[in-house]
Amino acid sequence: MSALKEIYLNQFQLNILLDEEEKEAYRYIVQEGTYCVHCKDVCKEGVEVHENILNDMNDILIKGICKKCGGHVSRFIEYGEFEDFVVKANSFRKAIGE
Ligand SMILES: [Zn+2]
Repeated sequence: MSALKEIYLNQFQLNILLDEEEKEAYRYIVQEGTYCVHCKDVCKEGVEVHENILNDMNDILIKGICKKCGGHVSRFIEYGEFEDFVVKANSFRKAIGE
């Protein structure tokens, strides 16, 4: 089995990939579920997301800036554990020719 590619998702692609429940989880993580190593606390004011990456495990990696301190933060959302997400992610990969 060859390794999956990392894919940088634009907002439109992210929208297609996530169902309502997954979007809810995503919003929660962006707003209050990401730890900031600079604040040594969760990002109390949320994260300004700069990049969403579908990684080789079919998890989504969020990279951005802590809105409170301006430090860089990143966070995995382990969608790759959910079979229905993996099915969607793989057909998405196919659709964009990966
Ligand atoms: Zn911070």
